[in-house]
Amino acid sequence: MNRNNTILTVRNLSIAFQTNSGELNAVRGVNLQLMKGETLAIVGESGSGKSVTVKSIMGMVTSNGRIKEGSIEFTYTDNGKSITEDLTKLSNKEMQKRIKGKRIAMVFQDPMTSLDPTMSIGNQIMEGIRYHFKISKKNAEKKAMDLLELVGIKNPTSIMRNYPHQLSGGMRQRVVIAIALSCDPDLLICDEPTTALDVTMQAKIIQLIMDIQKEKEISVLFITHDLGVVAKIADKVSIMYAGKIVESGTVEDIFYDARHPYTWGLLASTPDINNIQERLYTIPGSPPNLLNTWEGDAFAERNQYAMNIDFRLEPPMFKINDHHYAATWLLHENAVKVERSHQNNQTLTWEEEGNLANK
Ligand code: ADP
Ligand code: MG
Repeated sequence: MNRNNTILTVRNLSIAFQTNSGELNAVRGVNLQLMKGETLAIVGESGSGKSVTVKSIMGMVTSNGRIKEGSIEFTYTDNGKSITEDLTKLSNKEMQKRIKGKRIAMVFQDPMTSLDPTMSIGNQIMEGIRYHFKISKKNAEKKAMDLLELVGIKNPTSIMRNYPHQLSGGMRQRVVIAIALSCDPDLLICDEPTTALDVTMQAKIIQLIMDIQKEKEISVLFITHDLGVVAKIADKVSIMYAGKIVESGTVEDIFYDARHPYTWGLLASTPDINNIQERLYTIPGSPPNLLNTWEGDAFAERNQYAMNIDFRLEPPMFKINDHHYAATWLLHENAVKVERSHQNNQTLTWEEEGNLANK
């Protein structure tokens, strides 16, 4: 892999929160790599640590949280020079001034959380432009109108004068995307940007993000719990479970050659890809409480293929090929080869499991 094409490398990132019930380990040794111009999707159930991970890239770890370990290397070009910085080493002030909103921008699930209800759309878009670029009000206004057109708003002049509550959910999200793009970021992070929208609007916003990515050649980190969306938008996919990446690969690796039983479960519970099934599968059980510690694999309890070793030791990342990795003991050379199945009532026994458990 050509390292010069990497825009973001997250290495062994661990983030914990202090809570009234003790320390909560939200992110546990996450690795991610995003190349220039690519879309990387992070997929996982609610509570798996997706938002905490991407917020940390924006320097937005809340005051009760801390980065315990790891690095976030971000590469960008400044005055024609390529610079790589570890974002975990930057102060809030430096992040605010040089990175956040300017080189890395973020679109959240609920557009109302990023919009100011008391400020006109025009002023909100111009605010960021004028903070990062020293340009006149007139030029900022022109740029704001261009951005609104770019995100598919047909009547930018009147929308500029509107307030957020006057717009539909879809329009608000378009405005948020316009604001995110206003400073020409190299990296756009979208955290479940369409979850609050109806299906038709979801498809439109996703198409918009794809069009913009192509036109602007930006890199996109796209968070979702919906594999149907991933199939449409992503080049690479990282599957997250209980604060860890459990499988990562190209979109083909994940859809045609998934190796982790959690990924199998996710695929089986996705309507678009599995429409042959009458009833959609749901992965039994629920993820572990991140306030607790446990032995072995966090997924073991829910894994119909779990072996003794799954309850004792955390599996390492096994390499399937140069771009495909999965953290499951099923990939150990001593594990029984299993057929992927989604019936949760299936009882499986492993005759050869003894070999592995004794390791
Ligand atoms: P996801 O985005 O995958 O749904 P999150 O990243 O939001 O999940 O959350 C991961 C875990 O971290 C959850 O258990 C959540 O309750 C916890 N968490 C997130 N933010 C905080 C916080 N500020 N304080 C304490 N716990 C938090
Ligand atoms: Mg989230």
